[in-house]
Amino acid sequence: MTTLNNKVAVVTGASKGIGAGIARVFARQGASVVLAARGADVLDLAAELRAEGCEATGVQCDVTDPRDCKRLARTAVESYGRIDILDCNAGICRLGNFLDENDSWRDAHVNVNINGVWNACKSVIPEIVRAGGGAVVITSSVTGDLVADPGEAAYAMTKAALVGLTKALAREFADRNVRVNCICPGYIRTPLVEGMAEQSDPDNPERAIDEIARAVPLGRLGTPEECGQLCAFLASDDASYITGAQVVIDGGSTLPETTSMGQ
Ligand code: NAP
Repeated sequence: MTTLNNKVAVVTGASKGIGAGIARVFARQGASVVLAARGADVLDLAAELRAEGCEATGVQCDVTDPRDCKRLARTAVESYGRIDILDCNAGICRLGNFLDENDSWRDAHVNVNINGVWNACKSVIPEIVRAGGGAVVITSSVTGDLVADPGEAAYAMTKAALVGLTKALAREFADRNVRVNCICPGYIRTPLVEGMAEQSDPDNPERAIDEIARAVPLGRLGTPEECGQLCAFLASDDASYITGAQVVIDGGSTLPETTSMGQ
């Protein structure tokens, strides 16, 4: 079984959704986890994990600010002595029409989804190198390589960019024993997706969730913990020969060659 015993991990976007799932799995597998997000609820989740007997520290941090990311790395090293794992998961998604939206829509996605990952990597990878090597896992998406619906220009652009960044960093840091991989989730049930369901069917958001589930070959949305298990594997020594990979976790959503006719 994969285990992260004695590893020190930093997880961004860790207050809710996929990042909370990643932090929970990492902590329960024995890692000391530093959880980062902007809001104070990240402190509550860290306290909840500590109450379970895990090692966890919450840091309020905006990944768009390089100084915040430096403070995050410093806090992790001061708390646990070194960093072995960085999981860059913080991200935003707001759908919009390309011609109607102004450039602040694009910039918001670029700032969080690309620059945020860049800033976290710049601050934390030197610590991983100092520790003798380790792993970075980046949350991209199936959206980017593929696109399901109109309205995804800003989001898809940034998530596709993360695949390029993953591969470039994997190449650049291979000689320092730092592996870099990304996960590409399909629909995972998180506050982000629940918000989208509410937008698309305000009277009955569960109906919108059920509709998404019906289109997934496995018949349901994924859970944040399932993403956490994948990230834990990629971050662990069990994945010691995997670097530069993009791993899809989508219940088969991107599998069909064509959509089957109502079946
Ligand atoms: P979510 O429920 O909205 O959670 C997002 C997390 O990121 C929160 O902890 C949020 O906390 C944090 N965050 C947002 N902006 C931040 C910033 N500037 N600095 C630091 N933290 C920030 O979203 P999610 O669905 O879990 O998505 C997480 C990641 O998975 C994103 O990168 C998303 O693109 C990707 N993804 C999700 C799905 C899906 O189906 N859910 C599918 C594919 C990919 P604060 O607001 O407190 O900062």
